[in-house]
Amino acid sequence: MSRRTFVLPQELHDYLVEVGVREPDVLRRLRDETAKLPRAHMQIAPEQGAFMAMLVELMGARRCLEIGTFTGYSALAVGLALPEGGEVVTCDVSEEWTAMARRYWEEAGVADRIELRLGPALDTLDGLLREGAEGGFDFAFIDADKERYRDYFERCLRLVRPGGLIAVDNTLWHGKVIDPDAQDADTEAIRAFNRALRDDARVSLALVPIGDGLTLARRRA
Ligand code: CA
Repeated sequence: MSRRTFVLPQELHDYLVEVGVREPDVLRRLRDETAKLPRAHMQIAPEQGAFMAMLVELMGARRCLEIGTFTGYSALAVGLALPEGGEVVTCDVSEEWTAMARRYWEEAGVADRIELRLGPALDTLDGLLREGAEGGFDFAFIDADKERYRDYFERCLRLVRPGGLIAVDNTLWHGKVIDPDAQDADTEAIRAFNRALRDDARVSLALVPIGDGLTLARRRA
């Protein structure tokens, strides 16, 4: 959840995308192909891709980390925004989804700047820490299994540099966070994550109601 900024009425969202998102053709085609998949709701919204690309540009980021590749839209949006020599390290467990991702990265001419690590993301993140990557990333995007958000966040907080940014997806969870009847594990995990982050003095914080809710946490020191 969700392929668009769910708090906007459909017509206003259509307008926003029409005038406010310069989606490259390759990203649009990737989005169209992903829309045919049963898990298509895991695709980020085009306006969110544009927003994250803007953040990366503003930061002058060179090294980016992503937890949850899916079919590669966000890695591609960010990869296209990086300068020459920039790099995205992205983790996923699915051969099938990431095969599609690789096809589009190739097509966009940025496959050489996107490194895919297949396997459980915690193993990959711990591996990066063992390799000495602590503080080595400018930007991280967390968009994978919700019950592990806290664990991913703790690793990312070590992997991004002071002043680096961690963006966490789905933090409004299509409104289920305020639905008392929603007691499932994912919803509970997101609620607990949001509460803990609100009081986390290690980061500055802004929750942006774009897509399905995107929390920005900037490492303070
Ligand atoms: Ca997501």
